[in-house]
Amino acid sequence: MDPLLNLCTDIKNCKKCDLQYSRKNPVCGFGRPSPKMMLVGEAPGSKEDDAGKPFVGRSGKVLTLALEKAGVKSHEVYLTNSVRCRPKVGRTPKVSEIKTCSSFLRLELETIRPRLVVPMGNSAIQSISTILNRKLGRISEVNDKVFHCGKYYIIPQYHPSAILRNPKKMEMFKDSFARIAAFLEDLETKKMEYIFNKYLVQSI
Ligand code: SF4
Repeated sequence: MDPLLNLCTDIKNCKKCDLQYSRKNPVCGFGRPSPKMMLVGEAPGSKEDDAGKPFVGRSGKVLTLALEKAGVKSHEVYLTNSVRCRPKVGRTPKVSEIKTCSSFLRLELETIRPRLVVPMGNSAIQSISTILNRKLGRISEVNDKVFHCGKYYIIPQYHPSAILRNPKKMEMFKDSFARIAAFLEDLETKKMEYIFNKYLVQSI
C-alpha cells in the first residue's frame, strides 16, 4: 500500500494528544509524491478542519498567490502541517502537541524526501527543529535564511496567516517565494559551493 495513504489513515485515527477533542477532521498532507519542496504550516484552520485538506482557507489563497507569482506549479509542492487537528478557536498548538504530532511529519519527510523544506511560522519551525534535533530560532530571527541539515535545505517563512494580519507584508512574502523559486532552480543546475555562497547557507 502507498505509505502516504497508510500515514493518512494513522492520522485520521490518531488520539495521541488533546487536539483530538477539538477537531472535526484531521488533515493529512497533500501533493504529489515527488515535489520540489515541502511547505509546512501551523495547524488546520476552520476551512481545513471542515474539508480535511490543508491550505484551503484564506491562508491558502495568500500562499497560492505567492506561489503563482513566483512561477511555482502546484505539482511542485507538497503541503502539510505541524499538527493535524484544529485547536480550539483562538489558540495556537502547544509545544507538547507539536512534539507529539511531529512523528507524522517525520514519516512524511522520510517518505517524500524533499530537498527543500519551508516551515511557515513558529509552530512549523518548532516541529522541524524537533525532527532534526536542531535549534533554528523564532521566525522573526530566521525568516528567509537558508539552512542545510543532512539531506535537507530549510528556508523558514512567515505563515500566510501573519500576512493576512499585516497585508503590508504581502510584497515581502511574494519576493521571498520568488527567491525560493530561484533557489530551487539553482539547486538543480548549480554546484553546492555556488549555492552556499550565493544564499549564505548555514550548516546546522
Ligand atoms: S494533532 Fe496530531 S498527535 Fe494530536 S490527535 Fe491530531 S493527529 Fe494525533
